[in-house]
Amino acid sequence: MLNMEQKQFQAESKRLLDMMIHSIYTHKEIFLRELISNASDAIDKLYFKSLTDDSVNMAKSDFKIQLCIDEEARTLTIIDNGIGMTKEELEKNLGIIANSGSLKFKSENQLSEDSQIIGQFGVGCYSAFMVASRVTVKSRAFGADQAYVWQSEGTEGYTIDTCDKETVGTEIILEILPDVKDENGNEESYGDFLNPYRIQSLVKRYSDYIRFPIVMDMKKSRRKADAAEDDHSAEAYEDYIESVTLNSMIPIWRKNKNELKDEDYDNFYKDKFNDYAQPLAHAHVHNEGMPMYDALLYIPSRAPYDFYSKDYKKGLQLYANGVLIMDCCEDLLPDYFSFVKGLVDSEDVSLNISREMLQHDAQLRSIAKSIERTVKNELTRMMKNDRTKYEEFYKAFGLQLKYGVYSDYGMHKEVLQDLLLFVSSGEGHPLTSLAEYIDRMPEGQEYIYYAAGESLGRVESLPQTELVKDKGFEILYFTDNVDEFAIRMLMEYKGKKFKSIADSDLNLESEEEKKELEEKAESSKTMLETIKTALEGKVSAVKLSGRLKSHPVCLSSEGEITMEMAKTLNAMPGADQKIQAQLVLEINPEHPVYEKLMALSGTDDEKLGKYGQLLYHQAQLIEGMPIENPVAFSRLICELM
Ligand code: ADP
Repeated sequence: MLNMEQKQFQAESKRLLDMMIHSIYTHKEIFLRELISNASDAIDKLYFKSLTDDSVNMAKSDFKIQLCIDEEARTLTIIDNGIGMTKEELEKNLGIIANSGSLKFKSENQLSEDSQIIGQFGVGCYSAFMVASRVTVKSRAFGADQAYVWQSEGTEGYTIDTCDKETVGTEIILEILPDVKDENGNEESYGDFLNPYRIQSLVKRYSDYIRFPIVMDMKKSRRKADAAEDDHSAEAYEDYIESVTLNSMIPIWRKNKNELKDEDYDNFYKDKFNDYAQPLAHAHVHNEGMPMYDALLYIPSRAPYDFYSKDYKKGLQLYANGVLIMDCCEDLLPDYFSFVKGLVDSEDVSLNISREMLQHDAQLRSIAKSIERTVKNELTRMMKNDRTKYEEFYKAFGLQLKYGVYSDYGMHKEVLQDLLLFVSSGEGHPLTSLAEYIDRMPEGQEYIYYAAGESLGRVESLPQTELVKDKGFEILYFTDNVDEFAIRMLMEYKGKKFKSIADSDLNLESEEEKKELEEKAESSKTMLETIKTALEGKVSAVKLSGRLKSHPVCLSSEGEITMEMAKTLNAMPGADQKIQAQLVLEINPEHPVYEKLMALSGTDDEKLGKYGQLLYHQAQLIEGMPIENPVAFSRLICELM
């Protein structure tokens, strides 16, 4: 061939190319997205020129991207009538990966100078080598008379030559690889990329929102015009070729909010995120500041079946200027908002960015921050304006918020604490926020009281709740394991500390009551000591209680770990060393049982010890704790009867 130049890729390009083909992209199919996106960019450039330069002589509707499949030749061709490339540009853009045109443009514009440079390497075109044995790029630049053809079989090098091309633009011919089986026997059927339906679905999936039409000739079938009316045989039909536009061109998130109805948003959600239930709410964001982005966020009405398992994948779809670059970008959502579904589209995100790079991308982090604020605001608004809906949300995802408060050592409590709801001891057990609780606090109430247990019924009937309620104080009922742990992280809310009703120093008695209790305790000292000894270290103290009304006994705890927390911790997998809360057995001096115990003290201490054990087990049962030795317990009852 005359004029033909054989060139080597620069050494670092070769390394990058290798790396890219083998690692950056896990899905080979995205080559199509890359090439279509380049074509669309090239059209953008010429379209932009056409607005100011009469010599372009093209209307917007003339611009298109064409896909052609030749099954026999095993080629897939992507044709655009964009700006095209000169010989120098072909060489510069495709010959040296690091000299990507986009990168140059970005740094000239002082954009993202410090952002990950590698993210902008011109690797898009090279993704073609993931599916093609040879890539041929024919291009004629706008304003040039001569067209050039660039050809390469991968890492070894490339050739550039002159060629004939009538029209301005670029044509990329991929010679699709033969189908192969890899070492593990997995079939890689590259031939799929020659199937028009497969191509159609890839375009729908990844490039639906490209602003120019992506067209392809598709074989269709129709009834022959001269077919007899009752003829339904195959002969009555004929094949014909129709040029089909594959993409819808306008993404819903780019549309104006006032053009869209709730129904449009809901349908899009159901379609896109495969949920048949309506979402509870959506937020449509057009962020004009830096970074610029559009986002469509949804709060589903129910948790997916795997939501609270490790299989659940959080994340938003990420588009770079209308092109899908990631289906599930985790970094856009904090864990505690992992239920949010949706997408983000930004011009400020690089198309070639990979998963690893994303984590370090400043633009993305700032988008994530702003999305977190949007979700928080949306939830706050829902809580205020549509409480029923918010409670529906909370029933599905409240647990996740509570985990969020607890995780990372309480780092996110500021974001989340206002969104929490707990069941209250009030009439009908309404869900209440902490702010609402505090608003209702009577004069003189110092703490936010809570009672923890495995079910509402259980917590409600705890002996300790009686007195707190009698004092006119509301109690928050904690029935999820994480509740008490989350509260520990909060420590206080609006200056009010949390207090478990099972805390040994609940301090609800009046000065007078306290004095009376102290006197009684003094005279009961021997009796209490005898019981403590009989309990053989199971409790750290036995004392008289000022908080019990109708119940004879209860257990409370001292120190950091409450009984409920110990239960949860011990139930966790791998918890072989049992964690013990420091228990206090409290005896009600107003209960007839007390007199009985006092009567035994000093006269029959053995029996007193046994009564003490019985009362301890009784208290355990009330607390929902297991009795270490049920047989001994049962024997004890019979003995005493
Ligand atoms: P990137 O798009 O990330 O810069 P690519 O390897 O995809 O990297 O492309 C390198 C450059 O080649 C682009 O920046 C663009 O200037 C040019 N280019 C690629 N495809 C086309 C095309 N179809 N028409 C015109 N120019 C193109």
